[in-house]
Amino acid sequence: MTLVARSGALTDIGLHRKTNEDTFIVAPPLFAVCDGMGGAQAGEVASGLAAETLAAAVADGRPLLAAAEEANAAVFRRATGDSDHTGMGTTLTAVVLGGDVGRFVHIGDSRAYLLRGDVLEQLSDDHSLVGEMLRDGRLTEEEAASHPHRSILSRALGTEALARIDEFEVDLRAGDVLLLCSDGLSGVVRAEVIKKMLGRADPGDAAARLIAEARKNGGPDNITAVVLRLDESLPGDEEVTLVVPAGLAATVVLAAPVAAEAETAAGESGAQQADAADGADGGGEAHVTPPAPEPAVGVPPAPEPADAVPPASAAPPRGAKRGLGCLAVVLALLFVIAGAGVLTVSTVFYVGVDEGRLAVYSGVPAALGPLQLHAVYRRSSLPYESLGPVERRLVDEQSLHTKGGVMTLSQTLGMWP
Ligand code: MN
Repeated sequence: MTLVARSGALTDIGLHRKTNEDTFIVAPPLFAVCDGMGGAQAGEVASGLAAETLAAAVADGRPLLAAAEEANAAVFRRATGDSDHTGMGTTLTAVVLGGDVGRFVHIGDSRAYLLRGDVLEQLSDDHSLVGEMLRDGRLTEEEAASHPHRSILSRALGTEALARIDEFEVDLRAGDVLLLCSDGLSGVVRAEVIKKMLGRADPGDAAARLIAEARKNGGPDNITAVVLRLDESLPGDEEVTLVVPAGLAATVVLAAPVAAEAETAAGESGAQQADAADGADGGGEAHVTPPAPEPAVGVPPAPEPADAVPPASAAPPRGAKRGLGCLAVVLALLFVIAGAGVLTVSTVFYVGVDEGRLAVYSGVPAALGPLQLHAVYRRSSLPYESLGPVERRLVDEQSLHTKGGVMTLSQTLGMWP
């Protein structure tokens, strides 16, 4: 059976850290979370390097475990070859979807969960001292949850020449929901709450709510969630033109209006957004060729200096919310993976200029006849004129990003003082 995966992914610095050392990958059929560790900026370097190496190796056609081993070697080489990065490492929890099977690799204390029906199952073992003691029966769940050393890893990527990486496969069914997350989420959000949030119809909404929950519970660490919903088909699937040359092809599908602010569902307007999304099913679709040949997903850019980083899940300015209104158009990019039998839909974003000021747009910078294929997602007060040449180029490129990626870019540009 061919399953269709819709994804939603977000990373957030949390409330107490100065940098975000988590990285995620949304590069269908590959999805992953890395949580870096090490002094100074080393954690960011480790998780970023691991994610980059893994994504490149998988894109080159390497099996997932071999790709993870390459990532280990790359991080280990950097850690041993450079005194600034001594001892750095990262967790890695990754899945490659193919047909109705999810192939996982895992090392460290990030987690993979499966929600099937009403049952939430943790698929991965925590490679932490506390996790090992729990499995040996030396600690109770309760003792483990509050253990002062629960963040000490027993295994990590990049800390040894040869990593002991777990590998497993899970048969997937329509209706399954997968969550990959860092310990900044699983450490502070209870399983019942995770279960409830994963039940949301929209994976982006689920990811945003999970992040909001972790922040509500103190947000002591960086928080990352990658949510995947598997379905047999999507409304309007049959109308999608599947053009699949070797490798990856993309088809843009213009979906019915859905509130583009679903991401910011920190509480107040979440229910309506979800309703809007549900009501949008079966709405009119139009299809265009994407303006850019590149897939709009991948490793998010490296996190930026701490001080400039507001939380990714912060509520947008009031004006932005009003501006969205019912006109918000959500574009989904369908990524068709040749041979893999997996279709993934992600909403895409870019940074553009609105009346002289920078804004984050959802959609693609193009029009279909009279129809604009984008809407302002979040407005900034920063004038384009005030940007230097390098920053201007970043804006002029109008490159497409995941939501996490565009928030990182907008922070880099200083759009949210
Ligand atoms: Mn962490």
